[in-house]
Amino acid sequence: MKVREIYCPYDSFQMRYIGTDRLQMGKYGFFTGHLDNFLSGALTVSIYECPRCGKLEFFRFRKAKKK
Ligand SMILES: [Zn+2]
Repeated sequence: MKVREIYCPYDSFQMRYIGTDRLQMGKYGFFTGHLDNFLSGALTVSIYECPRCGKLEFFRFRKAKKK
């Protein structure tokens, strides 16, 4: 998985890749409603943080598909 170059939407600082983590969906109610079809309790995400303002950005972690 590549580390993306992404920039904070608030101050245009380059965001720092922290790593991946698993979110327990029951604790993140704002996700439900959109993604509940393909969630079974936890979601693996890549996390980026803006070192200036602390903004966090999550991306769904995707495993490489094999044909
Ligand atoms: Zn920022």
